[in-house]
Amino acid sequence: MTANPFAATALRPSALTPDVAADFASAHFGVRGEVAELGSQQDQNFRVGSHVLKVANAAWATEEIELQDAAMRHAAARLPGNVPEPASRGIVEVEYDGAPLRLRLLPYLRGVPLRTQAHLPDRTLRAAGGLAGSVSGALADFAHPAAQRTLQWDIRRAGDVVAAYAPTVGDPARRSLVERAVAQAQADLPRQVIHGDVSVWNVLADSDPSSRLVPRRIIDFGDCVDTWRAAECAVLAASVCAHEPERALPAACAVVAGFHAVNPLEPEELAAMHALIAARAAISAVSGEHQARLDPDNVYVADSLAIAWRGLAAVMAIPSSLAHVAFRLACGLPVVSPPGAPACAAPWPAPVRVADLSAGSDAFVAGAWKRADGIAAVLSGTGPILGRWGERRLTGEQGPSLDEPATVHLAADLFVTEGSPVHAPVSARAAFCAPGTVALSLDAQTTLWLRDVEPAVEAGQSLAPGDVVAHIGSAGALPPHVSAQLAPAELGEPPLDVPATLAAPWLVVCPDPGPLLGIVATAAPEPETTAVRERRARHVASPQRLYYPEAPPHIERGWRQWLYDVNARPLLDLVNNVAIVGHSHPAIEAAAARQLRLLNTNSRFLYDAMGRFAERLAGLLPDPLDTVFLVSSGSEANDLALRLARAVTGREDALCFEGCYHGWTGAMHETLELSSRMHKLMRPTADPEQASQALASALGTVGQRAAGAFICEPYLGNSGGVALPHGFLGQLYGEVRRGGGLCIADEVQVGYGRLGHYFWAFEQQGVVPDIVTIAKATGNGHPVAAVITSRTIADAFGRNEDLFASVGGAPVSCEVGIAVLDVLRDERLQARARNMGEQVTARLGPLVERYELVHALHGMGLYRGLELRRPDGRAAGPEALAACDRLLELGVIVQPTGAEKNILKLKPPLCVESSDIDLLAAALDDAFGRGW
Ligand code: PMP
Repeated sequence: MTANPFAATALRPSALTPDVAADFASAHFGVRGEVAELGSQQDQNFRVGSHVLKVANAAWATEEIELQDAAMRHAAARLPGNVPEPASRGIVEVEYDGAPLRLRLLPYLRGVPLRTQAHLPDRTLRAAGGLAGSVSGALADFAHPAAQRTLQWDIRRAGDVVAAYAPTVGDPARRSLVERAVAQAQADLPRQVIHGDVSVWNVLADSDPSSRLVPRRIIDFGDCVDTWRAAECAVLAASVCAHEPERALPAACAVVAGFHAVNPLEPEELAAMHALIAARAAISAVSGEHQARLDPDNVYVADSLAIAWRGLAAVMAIPSSLAHVAFRLACGLPVVSPPGAPACAAPWPAPVRVADLSAGSDAFVAGAWKRADGIAAVLSGTGPILGRWGERRLTGEQGPSLDEPATVHLAADLFVTEGSPVHAPVSARAAFCAPGTVALSLDAQTTLWLRDVEPAVEAGQSLAPGDVVAHIGSAGALPPHVSAQLAPAELGEPPLDVPATLAAPWLVVCPDPGPLLGIVATAAPEPETTAVRERRARHVASPQRLYYPEAPPHIERGWRQWLYDVNARPLLDLVNNVAIVGHSHPAIEAAAARQLRLLNTNSRFLYDAMGRFAERLAGLLPDPLDTVFLVSSGSEANDLALRLARAVTGREDALCFEGCYHGWTGAMHETLELSSRMHKLMRPTADPEQASQALASALGTVGQRAAGAFICEPYLGNSGGVALPHGFLGQLYGEVRRGGGLCIADEVQVGYGRLGHYFWAFEQQGVVPDIVTIAKATGNGHPVAAVITSRTIADAFGRNEDLFASVGGAPVSCEVGIAVLDVLRDERLQARARNMGEQVTARLGPLVERYELVHALHGMGLYRGLELRRPDGRAAGPEALAACDRLLELGVIVQPTGAEKNILKLKPPLCVESSDIDLLAAALDDAFGRGW
């Protein structure tokens, strides 16, 4: 080894033309095919048909090339199909342009390199980690003399590489970063030969039917070396940190967990992992810097360099103690708690009350956590009041964002009067003082951080238990308090709140300060999502399914257009057309509560609300629709409507569109299946030609049957928000009525102002139905539904029939129904639906041009459907479901609909704001642009 082995490395590859490569491939290996040069940093690689011709860099010793081939053969025997196996001819030496060249032939392995997808979800990274673990496992019993080589990419050499290249790094901050990055990477770890470059470049994936990448193969054994076994995992982890620096820790955890699952890592390997990742990231950064000097005009080198620095910064931003805990937790291993804090000598005042700032807190009403006075109201009263450590706080929610908010509180807070003294609980030394903050060093390992206080000591001062160290300040969003947080000394100033995905390791690293302060019960209970799921699974019938069945979000609060999970994360709710005026609307709550206090009984008693509600509904409909039946759900309403039509016309036959949905009752179920009484009409789609065919076909069918009823959504909601062509229903209704039938408009989803331009969807068709059914929005989630028809039809039915629905039209339901109509009117929500709908068109319309998968944007107002189709025209149902999973990660709730479940239905509460539409557009852009 020379004194500076790395600075001397000449990495310029050979300069063969594709034609020459083709000649060589054919002459020496007997293969032919289309030739294309493939990128490589060191060798020259050509794809020739289904093979790769590798032209080795002149800098490599022949033994090193033999090492690669031997390693590939060894791994390929154990992982057939997952790694390339060199052609049996081995290394062929040729001369070109007066210089010797060494050629090899490998199979061309198909697959998409992971780096081509901007967002790599945890499941993909876990699988990639598993693949790295398998390759490392396959090489565990491999040996080759050349594996002892000195290689720049070997993490064991990181110190030397940085020493050699750091001088080329101009920026002193960056120089210091690389030096710090390699300082920890000294270890005595298990060794073996590793692939050495399992990275987002070299892992090839297949695409599953939902367009998710499934890592399958690993190429490029050029960096094979005998080194620390754990380096195999660290290389991939460093690579994914650079690829997605904004989620470096979760990404690295996924890799480590995947690796560990197939090739268990030793405790010391996990302990060293962060240092290894940092060292590898430092090698990439300084090597890139060096390469950029050699090749200053190379844009590709410049780009890689920027990525390498970003990756290093992201890795170094993760405290190593946190990374260690996070890796162990990710592997399902027990975690080692940091050394306990000293026993309390001067207890803090005992709280008189615990504040509940969580998503499920009953103390917050009507979005109170978003306002300073609302928060103050919850935290006021004679104190001290305790704010719990580990609580997922609504107060940490910062409004709409695709990023997970930092809601998990890593401190215990004591709310007391401004100016109150704060005492040292044990003997300590003031380590850091600044306005708002005092840090007490308790011992060499542990620091107690006191935040939102005015320091009363100076840094360096020694303190006895009970000494006053600060006074309660008044700064910050919360009322006067002190936040007490324990943290390892090496961490520096820790964050006070972290996102829930990172909570588990952070809560280990920054443990409950309660015992230190002499306060019991400072810890908030962990969300019981698993128990909640299990209880539901045990006792609720399985056909009552969940959205996101694999990992359903645990929701315990709704407010306006937002649902809050138990981590206090707001999720933009685009599926809840039921909550038309918004979740937990105070006016609805007040109406229900007031009436519940007064009276709730069945509709055979006389009370005012039923008539008032019916009058309001009738007032919204054109003549002759002035008579109302009150029931509790859309299914009941449609069932009753059909019964009405059959009874009044005396005809059992009925008609509906094929594939429609009108409810779950027996009669409504007939619309979905083969039935001798319910005949299916060809359902129109958004394609005008198909729609006119459907009309002709429907008219034909109607003409043949004198049906008693025809039921349909006047705007095809369940098909994804598809408008019927103008005149469609006019003609169809005409034909049905000529045959003596009645026309039922199911306005359960599309009515009530959601379309913006119309209150009722049938208005868009310029028709007046004989019977209208409503539900869902009618009660904003409370069970309120109705059938509205003419007095003549209702009376004709009433001649032979009686109708009694125990809770249909009950006083509370009617008051809720009236309150919903009041809010719709007072908040001008129909006009809002129109305006926001225009914004949806403006912001989401361009996605159709931008992404191959996005086929069309349907609907109007706030009933919209984003249809996904593959380039070959087939419905992209699996992709729609996967996109919805990704959107949930981005804080947006959307679900697929349509016969082929390939349409993302967008039907939010009508109170959505323009910033929400922007957020939705950004989330869709992220999902379609960066992948899932
Ligand atoms: N009609 C339509 C158009 C619907 O979409 C639904 C429910 N999705 C229903 C009726 C049934 O309503 P409910 O679930 O209230 O019974």
